[in-house]
Amino acid sequence: MNKFDYTKISDDCVKCGKCKPVCTIFNINQDEATSPRGFIDLLGAYKRDELELDKTVKEIFESCFLCTNCVEVCPNSLPTDMIIEQVRSDIAKKYGITWYKRLFFFLLRHRKIMDFMSKLGYMFQTCGIKIDAEKQSATPRFTLPIVKKDRALPYADSISFLNKYPENMKFSKVEKKGKIAIFIGCMSNYTYTNTGDSLVKILKKLEYDIFIPKKQLCCGAPAYFTGAFDTVDYLTKKNIEYFESWIDDVEAVIIPEATCSAMINKDWEHFLHDQPLWQERAIKLSKKIFLATKWLENSTELKDILSKNGKKFDQMVTYHDPCHAKKMQGVWKEPRELLKQNYVLKEMSDSNRCCGFGGVTMQTEKFSFARAAGAPKAAMIRDTKAQIVSAECSACRMQITDSLYNAKVDVVFKNPIELIAEALED
Ligand code: SF4
Ligand code: SF4
Repeated sequence: MNKFDYTKISDDCVKCGKCKPVCTIFNINQDEATSPRGFIDLLGAYKRDELELDKTVKEIFESCFLCTNCVEVCPNSLPTDMIIEQVRSDIAKKYGITWYKRLFFFLLRHRKIMDFMSKLGYMFQTCGIKIDAEKQSATPRFTLPIVKKDRALPYADSISFLNKYPENMKFSKVEKKGKIAIFIGCMSNYTYTNTGDSLVKILKKLEYDIFIPKKQLCCGAPAYFTGAFDTVDYLTKKNIEYFESWIDDVEAVIIPEATCSAMINKDWEHFLHDQPLWQERAIKLSKKIFLATKWLENSTELKDILSKNGKKFDQMVTYHDPCHAKKMQGVWKEPRELLKQNYVLKEMSDSNRCCGFGGVTMQTEKFSFARAAGAPKAAMIRDTKAQIVSAECSACRMQITDSLYNAKVDVVFKNPIELIAEALED
């Protein structure tokens, strides 16, 4: 199937409606127009020039969470998310991109300026936010134009992950073990830095050499989901050229972030569908790039080490499946296999249900949708009575931490990489 042929996709929709009960936005709106088959119908009409991309249609296409729940259940595997990603580029061209998103994407393209802004943020953030270090979250002291006072947000760390470590670290005692590269992702680089610290500890314990590619840029996911395709093009190609300069020297590139890993492994290929030479280069690279728990579970002796030598905890952990891990990359068994060696795992009623992060637009202009989608997730986490909720994704972390805060549920969020590193501590 041509994943970008809107007309064919629209024709292939048999209107069975199986996608509606699982659709994140349909569950909030209960409106056919904002359901997967509604989106497909409208996109078909738009491509046939029967529908103008006016402000109402723009609002409709911006309300999809890109969670891919619909793709998973659709008997024809219709890629609703992908065609919505494409139409968002048309929306961006027609209506432009709001100033703060443009500023954000500019910073993602310029690491040095982002480093400086993050440092500045760290120095002055306590004037504007109250920090809860245990939950790694902060609440604004006053309402800002984009962010309201009643929100739990991430905050900047004193030094970014990429600036904290040397580029090469040697821990191998056996020559053939080789070197592992870490792609950290922007949120773990600037805010949830303990995830990267924990990954370094795990690789050290496993006696791998570590390579931290200092010139890595954002994977492009925030811009891709917003339709800012010029930024995606820039970031994708810069990263591809850079990765190619060292990929043969490493055994694998591991990423402790579902969204970045899915972007690099799957969405670079989708984005470059009309640039075949670049697409081929992205596909070639992707063979060595993995979500961290997938590689740690399938390619190392970590599970045995955790089982034999790891600390055992009484704490109960419930695992949330990030859409970009389970649905896009088929990773869900691996983090559980590793975690259950040392923690009591308790499944929530629907770990596959989208947390409601939804991207930059959902977290800003459409935050009321994110709040509505987050409430059932917070309730099912509370019902497990777990002390910790885990997911290998900082976007889920940001959204779930806010949902728990909003629902007054006292549960701490940790990336599975952090929990594994804690179990390995002497
Ligand atoms: S990607 Fe998610 S929110 Fe969007 S149409 Fe599919 S199920 Fe609904
Ligand atoms: S599940 Fe697929 S075929 Fe059925 S209505 Fe939804 S998009 Fe159309």
